[in-house]
Amino acid sequence: MTDAVETESTELLRTLIRNGCVNTGAPDSGNEAKSVDALEDFFAGSGLSCERYTSAPGRMSLITRIEGSDPKAPRLILMGHLDVVPVNPSGWSRDPFAADLVDGIVWGRGAIDMLNLTSTMAVATRRLAKSDWKPRGTLIYVAVADEEAGGNYGAGHLTAREPEAVKCDYVVTESGGVPIPTPSGNKLRVSVGEKGGNWRRIVVKGTPGHGSRPLRTDNALVTAARVVQLLADYRPKARILDVWRRYVQGLELPPDLAEALTDPDYVLETAMKLDNLALAREAHACTHTTFSPNVVHGGTKVNVIPDRVEIEVDIRALPGVTPAEVDAMIAEALGDLHDRVTVEGPSRREGSLSPFDTPLVEALRRVSSALAPGSQIIPSMSTGGTDSRFFRAKGIPSYGFGLHSTRIPYTQYPLMFHGNDERVDTESLRLSALMWEALARDFLG
Ligand SMILES: [Zn+2]
Repeated sequence: MTDAVETESTELLRTLIRNGCVNTGAPDSGNEAKSVDALEDFFAGSGLSCERYTSAPGRMSLITRIEGSDPKAPRLILMGHLDVVPVNPSGWSRDPFAADLVDGIVWGRGAIDMLNLTSTMAVATRRLAKSDWKPRGTLIYVAVADEEAGGNYGAGHLTAREPEAVKCDYVVTESGGVPIPTPSGNKLRVSVGEKGGNWRRIVVKGTPGHGSRPLRTDNALVTAARVVQLLADYRPKARILDVWRRYVQGLELPPDLAEALTDPDYVLETAMKLDNLALAREAHACTHTTFSPNVVHGGTKVNVIPDRVEIEVDIRALPGVTPAEVDAMIAEALGDLHDRVTVEGPSRREGSLSPFDTPLVEALRRVSSALAPGSQIIPSMSTGGTDSRFFRAKGIPSYGFGLHSTRIPYTQYPLMFHGNDERVDTESLRLSALMWEALARDFLG
């Protein structure tokens, strides 16, 4: 049976999907102002006033708040992003921006990343505003631009330029809360940290010449091929973080496997032969700084020996690994070839971690087990980046959560993030909206 919370969440999600705030990474993409307008319409008549923050033409974020009565009580931000990543429509079974609702499933880009949460957080905030809730603490709803391209026009802009507007003690944003079955019941991930995105451009120089006489020439593409292979084969030593240990414990894997996955000397070898490919990739990424050469540009014409090739590498550093250590790893990986390249660093970020033992996590534990009886929360680390890092960098604990039903199996989720046929069931929307509302009531009193 569909109730008002589910209907409101579903319809707002569909509106945000249809707005298609696609962020290509170009400053003039995204156009989140469109969805800010939609949210302002959504909040109209609730007594909430909306603040708009523009970082560049069309790039807009929205904030609304329910002020608490006690200035010493905590301030909680619920933060969602408004932008989505581009699609390749040919891989989709349905129009990615039509927001079709079929048999209790909403289809479309952003359905799980993360317009589902952006809309359910708004629904909870509006319901609280319309009720007679008079909290001690302050609830702040923040809908931001530009998460998918680094956040500089959204959360980055707000934390740097509008610190008063986003002053808080805790943040909750994406992602987590998809039930993972284990022998003792479903486990719900709370994302407490993320790796540091370190993107590097490696420029390989050569000497131009005629392609008809290749012997003993200095061909930048041939050198680049070796560079790519060395980076792909590079295996820095594993580091076992506490969050990984606790996550593996929470999954209740067979004891031998759990032990191997938390042993720095065996984790890679174990991941190499695991049948469960998703767990293998996760185990590797959560215990290593990873190197993925993903883009190459070079050469000019088929009969010209190229003198310049650029390789772009997506490097994700474990929390605690500095950008300087990443550069040292590149030097180690390339060995003698390191002298023949220049390394540029378009993005140099450190990973971030928040503690799992905080009053807010206790509140998440209470509200999630009430709404999903028998489930337990476990800490996890995100291998991708989120806007949490802007707040963690200021020492503010920030978590990724949400609450999903079991209708779409958890194994489907990694395929849907930035993938084809992204979709969410409306029961999950209902659960998330109820969870945000319960969290605010529990934590802000
Ligand atoms: Zn996202």
